[in-house]
Amino acid sequence: MSESDPQNGTDSSLMFDPALHDRALAGWGIRRRRGDLAQEEKNSEENILLNSPEDSTLKGASTAGCTPPEGNPPVDVLENLDLDSIARLVASCERCGLCQHRQNTVFGTGNPSARLMFVGDSPGEEDDLQGLPFVGRSGQLLDRILSQGLKLTRDSVYITNVLKCRPPESRDPLPEEVQSCGSYLDAQIERVSPEMIVALGKPAAQFLTGEDTSLKRLRGRKHVYKGVPVVVTHHPAFLLQQPQAKAECWHDLQVVIETLGLK
Ligand code: SF4
Repeated sequence: MSESDPQNGTDSSLMFDPALHDRALAGWGIRRRRGDLAQEEKNSEENILLNSPEDSTLKGASTAGCTPPEGNPPVDVLENLDLDSIARLVASCERCGLCQHRQNTVFGTGNPSARLMFVGDSPGEEDDLQGLPFVGRSGQLLDRILSQGLKLTRDSVYITNVLKCRPPESRDPLPEEVQSCGSYLDAQIERVSPEMIVALGKPAAQFLTGEDTSLKRLRGRKHVYKGVPVVVTHHPAFLLQQPQAKAECWHDLQVVIETLGLK
């Protein structure tokens, strides 16, 4: 997982054993199965896993100034929208003051039927410029974690953030911003319906666990968000600053490998 290591691993398939997965979920106190499990079981006989990656990337729209209204996006509006429609709604969102600072909204990218979802806190500078999540140095490290650690590509998973707009100077999200934007992430989780979520860093971990505590206390425990197992680990930006923490990240991801039956 060294930053100087070349990227490798282009195989986006996952090896999957449904029986192993059921047993792993039972360990989380969950009896949740994906709606397309029957198809997965059929595929497992051929050791084929993820659906063909389908690019759900939707770049955000540039916004010059906004006047944020009060409250959250109406839940009933999001309920009836697919991922692409929610992304278009986000592209013109003015629910919080961050709309005044963004170059682009950053919705999410990857497989809209992914088994594994990664959630960070908010877009970085390069993400804001490109309208895509994790495309800066943190994103390059996440790509290496995926390819070298999990043997996955970013097209086979779904990647997003709690906030869809970059906070000034890339500061941590404010509670009111999370309150305003969180319903978009909820809708993404519902549409993608992942079997596991990896929370990258404290803000994402606090949102997905509902616990206002340190990352140290959140790591290494089993969490569940809306019926989906959640694993907490370090944000790649932190790993760039503290490379010695990569071992802890790798340790955290072992439960992902075990629970999803990745090989
Ligand atoms: S951060 Fe979220 S709630 Fe705030 S303006 Fe951007 S999309 Fe809307």
